[in-house]
Amino acid sequence: MSVPLLDLRAQYERLRREIEPVVAEVFESQRFIGGPHVEALEQAIAGYCEAREAVAVASGTDALLLLLKAAGVGPGDEVITSPFTFFATAGAVVNVGATPVFVDIDPETYNLSAPGVEAAISHRTKAVIPVHLFGHCADMAPMNAAAKRHNLTVIEDAAQSIGARYYEGRSGNLGDAGAISFFPSKNLGGAGDGGMVTAMDAALADRVRLLRNHGDEGGYMYSAVGTNSRLDALQAAVLCVKLRHLDTWIAERRANAEYYNARFADVEEIVTPVEREGCYHVYNQYVIRLPERDRARQYLGELGIGCAVYYPLPLHRQECFAHLGYHPGSMPESNRASEEVLALPVFPELTREQQDEVVAAVKQHLAAV
Ligand SMILES: *Cc1c(COP(=O)(O)O)cnc(C)c1O
Repeated sequence: MSVPLLDLRAQYERLRREIEPVVAEVFESQRFIGGPHVEALEQAIAGYCEAREAVAVASGTDALLLLLKAAGVGPGDEVITSPFTFFATAGAVVNVGATPVFVDIDPETYNLSAPGVEAAISHRTKAVIPVHLFGHCADMAPMNAAAKRHNLTVIEDAAQSIGARYYEGRSGNLGDAGAISFFPSKNLGGAGDGGMVTAMDAALADRVRLLRNHGDEGGYMYSAVGTNSRLDALQAAVLCVKLRHLDTWIAERRANAEYYNARFADVEEIVTPVEREGCYHVYNQYVIRLPERDRARQYLGELGIGCAVYYPLPLHRQECFAHLGYHPGSMPESNRASEEVLALPVFPELTREQQDEVVAAVKQHLAAV
């Protein structure tokens, strides 16, 4: 039996009857940009994330980019972030002309290490971008405290973490603003690209609203140079439907993660994901560490079991960042993670039988190495 890493067809089968009418409605209206579906999604996401505001944009990458611009981050400025994340986090920093400053991760959660952040703050630092990697929130309290002392903007990269909790807070309301992605493989995935800014700082939200539409104040009067980063009505209509199911899907992901954790509990060589006190993990990815990772990936692949490495090369060692001058051996925890991690299927529709298959394959790999 083959097991995919993600099965979006299975999700679509569950939703077809709800999605088809709203898509038809958008076509009937022939209103494809902005409009009531986009506004409804913004309100629903702000409510869901318990954030003051939400502004729909064209992608998670644009959400980061426009937030950095809105916060006034530009040439000569430094932005502290993680080297163990999807490329877009640091790419956005470079695309506004600023310099990413990498701080190594906490090996338990794979998230930016809070004490490291404080130590990396310089007179050029303007912002910090903690990433809630795999769906587990970064340790925000000490980072927010350091940011406040140094007057920095805190932008959460919440691309993988919608629905996650950190004590009383939720992913998207834990800093000044957050960037959500609706890329199809995220927990709330659209039928294409899409993104959302959530903000606790109303001025930042207003600025993003201006910048996503070229800086148009209305009537073709421009007070700033923005870009075209609007969300399609079709995406918003589909996402409004899917949002109603998100909590169920997260509960299913969590149950799948718990099942793996129990099945791997007696396997000494495997490190299963942690959920810190006060945190609620949403498992956009279920990531383990195991010996001979590359061989494991190949073996599972041969058996038709989907798995993936997020991420195989930390950002401080990417060719495009060579000019930043990092020693390849710096960021030892990010380096070690990049060699040891493997993401296993955890999607909501995964069956126990499929999970047993995955567990058996992982155990066979361990027996062989
Ligand atoms: C997916 C992702 C992004 C980018 O989102 P897009 O919608 O694909 O542009 C940014 N950061 C992280 C951590 C991501 O996983």
